Amino acid sequence: MKVLVPVKRVADSNVKVRVKSDGTGVDLANVKMAVNPFDEIAVEEAVRLREAGSAAEVITVSCGTSHCQETLRTTMAIGADRGILVETDADLQPLAVAKLLKVLADREQPQLIILGKQAIDDDCNQTGQMLAALLGWPQATFASKIVLEAGRAVVTREVDGGLETLSLALPAVVTTDLRLNEPRYVTLPSIMKAKKKPLETIKPLDMGIDVAPRLKTLKVTEPPKRSAGVLVPDVATLIEKLKNEAKVI
Ligand code: AMP
Repeated sequence: MKVLVPVKRVADSNVKVRVKSDGTGVDLANVKMAVNPFDEIAVEEAVRLREAGSAAEVITVSCGTSHCQETLRTTMAIGADRGILVETDADLQPLAVAKLLKVLADREQPQLIILGKQAIDDDCNQTGQMLAALLGWPQATFASKIVLEAGRAVVTREVDGGLETLSLALPAVVTTDLRLNEPRYVTLPSIMKAKKKPLETIKPLDMGIDVAPRLKTLKVTEPPKRSAGVLVPDVATLIEKLKNEAKVI
């Protein structure tokens, strides 16, 4: 069985991004980019399924500019077998990505699609859910454990107050949470090997999909600066301040 893993190229989580001075977005010039962390977990999980003999092939797909080739090569160094780049310079929003992924799912016929629960740049948390709806497949979001058995995926999900276990008929869509696994360290030989793996490039127009944005960003602003704290000499002063200054008790 094939596992399809969509991966987004985002600003590295260790980088402190800055808002552009005209408030139109975030300045990504010269910023270190990386695979979205939740997608790295998704790739790791798919590769572990293949290594365990539950999956035959792991295909990663990234939608975006030609730079996403680099993102796909990283996923192939983790262990994905091949990559698909849906190349466009357009500003892609979750619905457009979900439509592109649906076309690829129809073509590749995977039994399982594992996405990240959210991309850490826009924090949308929408693409997996939209894709499942477009395909009419069952979905389990925020997975902390995935077990494949007898044509079903048994997924443990992190919910408020505990864990929930769902059994989904395949094919299905699953999105990853942080505790699903710890992605492996990518070695130099695996990076070299990844360079030789197949990478196909297609364009949204050839897939018959209009990726024009449906939402407009009006303004992006920095969060307000936190003011400095004060040290209080004793508990009595703290209580007095909480009562009379902060007025929280
Ligand atoms: P989002 O709904 O934007 O928070 O993204 C959720 C997940 O959808 C990500 O973790 C990826 O697995 C997938 N995804 C989002 N955007 C893209 C993209 N441009 N290319 C490939 N996968 C994507």
